[in-house]
Amino acid sequence: MSSIRCDCGERIFLGQIPNPHQWKFISDDDLDKYSGMINIDEMYIEMSSFIKCPSCGSLWVFWNGWNSKPQKFVPSENNETETPGHI
Ligand SMILES: [Zn+2]
Repeated sequence: MSSIRCDCGERIFLGQIPNPHQWKFISDDDLDKYSGMINIDEMYIEMSSFIKCPSCGSLWVFWNGWNSKPQKFVPSENNETETPGHI
């Protein structure tokens, strides 16, 4: 079973279906291609994935599929809850 090791030391297994640590996302542009009844299998293929470390909360974003290196995002250490401004 494939896994990734987070920088905090947590090993996160990827083979579980559904995976409680995996999230799916799609850009607004790509979402705009869909309307009406959606074929979820077709949409699933279009979606990208990120893994959220259950230990430290870091996000490992696979922008270009599972075979590319993920980009890591780390939560703010002081857990700021300030809402980003809107234009
Ligand atoms: Zn972690």
